[in-house]
Amino acid sequence: MNTMELLKDKLKETGFKITPQRRAIVEILIKNTDKHLSSEEIYDLVRVDCPEIGLATVYRTMQLLDDVGVISKLNLDDGCIRYEICLDKEDSHNHHHLICKSCSKIIEVKEDLLDSIERQIQETYKFEIIDHDLKFYGLCEDCSK
Ligand SMILES: [Zn+2]
Ligand SMILES: [Zn+2]
Ligand SMILES: [Zn+2]
Repeated sequence: MNTMELLKDKLKETGFKITPQRRAIVEILIKNTDKHLSSEEIYDLVRVDCPEIGLATVYRTMQLLDDVGVISKLNLDDGCIRYEICLDKEDSHNHHHLICKSCSKIIEVKEDLLDSIERQIQETYKFEIIDHDLKFYGLCEDCSK
């Protein structure tokens, strides 16, 4: 199954109705999975095929998608919330983000890499880790040349 089908299944389970406008938004999200778009950026991209859409619809749809748990929010402390599709929230830990201080590029670290830290925390603090949100700030390869 591709991402769109998986997502549609998940949305159907939760009773989320896919209207043409919502579908256009979801398609933009799927096409730009690694871009971490803000609502405003999503709006600009959706408007190309769907000129009648309003920014309020984008905001509302993102809120709904967040409520049903198919996207995750990324806050880079730059005043805008970015989104990415995240279909298996329950059993997968969030990937990490590398944020370039110079060009603002966001790079994804697919590996968790925290197994030994997580094990140590669970043993020492008797704390069951469900997820984590880890951002590294620095310079990307291009900017550090
Ligand atoms: Zn983890
Ligand atoms: Zn950079
Ligand atoms: Zn990401």
